[in-house]
Amino acid sequence: MDDLFRLRDPARARALVGLLRRYAPPDPVRIVHVCGTHEIAIAQHGLRSLLPEGVEVLEGPGCPVCVTPTVDLDRAVKLAERGAIVCTFGDMTRVPGARVTLAEARADGADVRVVLSPADAVEVARANPQRDVVFFAVGFETTAPGTAAVLLDSPPPNFYVLSCHRLIPPALVALLAGPPVPIAGFLAPGHVSTIIGARAYRVIAERYHVPVVVAGFEPLDILYAIALVLRQVREGRAEVENAYPRAVSEAGNLRAQGLLATAFAPCDAVWRGIGRIPGSGLSIRDELARHDARHAFSVQAEEGEEKPPGCLCSEVLLARAVPADCPLFRDPCTPLSPVGPCMVGTEGACNVWYRYGRRPNP
Ligand code: SF4
Repeated sequence: MDDLFRLRDPARARALVGLLRRYAPPDPVRIVHVCGTHEIAIAQHGLRSLLPEGVEVLEGPGCPVCVTPTVDLDRAVKLAERGAIVCTFGDMTRVPGARVTLAEARADGADVRVVLSPADAVEVARANPQRDVVFFAVGFETTAPGTAAVLLDSPPPNFYVLSCHRLIPPALVALLAGPPVPIAGFLAPGHVSTIIGARAYRVIAERYHVPVVVAGFEPLDILYAIALVLRQVREGRAEVENAYPRAVSEAGNLRAQGLLATAFAPCDAVWRGIGRIPGSGLSIRDELARHDARHAFSVQAEEGEEKPPGCLCSEVLLARAVPADCPLFRDPCTPLSPVGPCMVGTEGACNVWYRYGRRPNP
């Protein structure tokens, strides 16, 4: 067991760097991950400086805050302006919407509250029985089961959910199915994979002939997963490999999957900067419609500027550019005055690169 958890071992790191060099193909390859936590680990630990020449690792649409479209932000703002208490996670209050951010709406008198979980929003509803309370729900398969759990646990009648949850596998397909981008392989997010299981990616690997390796979040986890992708590329294989078996099983968390299937149905959904992706959202099932904010309140929301002038967020989210390619990166776009959504969320690529800098290849 001790051996299993030796996650910061310099000797192992050196051995993995040797593997990366051994498996690096002669031609340049681009590997894409879709996870803000992976990007933080890669940037914070300078892992890109360890990659062989020609091997790139880019973040795709891995930040739920970044991909929430302006029309849904506007819907949340309008619900707050009409008198509902809108509860959401902290980063969501600062994302530019169609007109204003939720934080700006709060400054104008709207009741917008930051919560740490859907259960906290239910508590707000119980404490304010005369008010409508809307939980603005964002996040991938990791956070959606928490929303499902409160919906299925007889919440108070004044509790509603504005579901903007998104699913990762359809996003991987969208990255592959768009205009040609040479993606050699994916690192699948470890936390999402604990829920959906490694087998959820099998159809993608087989249909699109692209390696998918489930990766943990320690620096050595990530180096190991990259080495497995490179080995598959070199050997001409396209399979799902699980490089995070201490947390991820083949089938995933069946209880969480059951909660998701009972509370939600997959639906087409718009991802900011990317567009509509079939089957990539979660809508609340009809049986729970009394708690569905889209159903309960007829709010006409406006679409805003999904991509401010000069902002490269679309290209960053599609893994076709890195933050440093954007002429607005650092000046004027910073976490304190973000121009685009990728600089707002702490898991957005631009925000991560701003905070940790980029360590060039040696
Ligand atoms: S640096 Fe700012 S403006 Fe440029 S892509 Fe990132 S978020 Fe958009």
